[in-house]
Amino acid sequence: MSEIVDQLAELTGLRDRDTLDVSLVTSIRDLLQPGSVAVHRVVGDAGDERWLTRAHLDVADVAARADSSWADPRSLPLLAERPAWQRCLQAATEIELSGSDTTLLLPLASDAGVIGVVEIVTRQPLTDEIKRLLIGVLRIYRNVQGLLDYSERDTLTGLLNRKSFDETFYKVSAAPPPPVADQPGDRRHGAAAGYWLGVVDIDHFKLVNDRFGHLIGDEVLLLLSRVMRSCFRFYDQVYRFGGEEFVVLLRCAGEEDARAALERFREAVRGYVFPQVEHITVSVGFTDVRHGDSPNAAVERADRAVYFAKNHGRDQVRGHAALVREGLLEDDKKAGDIDLF
Ligand code: GH3
Ligand code: MG
Ligand code: MG
Repeated sequence: MSEIVDQLAELTGLRDRDTLDVSLVTSIRDLLQPGSVAVHRVVGDAGDERWLTRAHLDVADVAARADSSWADPRSLPLLAERPAWQRCLQAATEIELSGSDTTLLLPLASDAGVIGVVEIVTRQPLTDEIKRLLIGVLRIYRNVQGLLDYSERDTLTGLLNRKSFDETFYKVSAAPPPPVADQPGDRRHGAAAGYWLGVVDIDHFKLVNDRFGHLIGDEVLLLLSRVMRSCFRFYDQVYRFGGEEFVVLLRCAGEEDARAALERFREAVRGYVFPQVEHITVSVGFTDVRHGDSPNAAVERADRAVYFAKNHGRDQVRGHAALVREGLLEDDKKAGDIDLF
């Protein structure tokens, strides 16, 4: 009993969503000593959803294993390739499969619905009492996740908010990123990946509010957030900084890849038909995230590129580094040096 309380205290004390799934499998392993336990989550776009294993522990493992958070989506199994997991997810119900071992699948729910499955493999079927205990643990997990979402997500769009940005940014700027997933025949084979920060500002959004009212304005913000979510990969982080300013933290192999991803998004917004308002455009500025960078410094560089785009016709993507190279913007470092003297 005290062991259960310890595990729950551990789980409810977490403030970092990245460690939540690892903590869940560790708790279940310590409580039940099963053959293996894993958390598989659904990632990717509607119609092309895939399984990402967030944490997996075999009985002898010291530390949990996981799919790389930067996995190429195409390398992950499609939902239908794991039919039992898919049934558990879609019916939101527990499923027990018996063979030489017993596999118990439990739906992993958040306030937004079922987001994955927990898979527990044991020699003997688990008793009803243990299953009830597991379901209770998953409810606590859901509450913790709900509290994290409440403090870290924007209520209108459900995107991450500014508060969670700084923390993620520091993680990203402190660690050299791992190399991009190698694709057979990929010309960027072995290329070092980097992080890129894009700032998005809607063009003439005041006019939308003036003509159609704030409620319709808010609907545009909500729909734009969905376009944004669907344009980037599952591991790219999308934020709303308040107002009509959105930010994306991208992981790409280089400047041109970052530009291409942001251009795709700009085009998607341009082509989207919003109810009543019909068409809007966005101006986007981006910058590389440098080792040891601060969130404010990087956002300011991207903002300066947005400002340039606003003054040169809007509806365009501008990169800070390219503007500096072309002599159209002053390098911050030089500008900083001048300030010193
Ligand atoms: P620009 O092309 O120069 O960006 O023009 P703009 O009209 O979009 O100007 P700016 O970005 O400075 O203005 C932002 C406007 O967005 C101001 C405000 O009316 C509106 N806005 C900010 N937050 C919200 C919100 O939460 N809901 C709605 N409906 N409107 C908002
Ligand atoms: Mg603005
Ligand atoms: Mg604007």
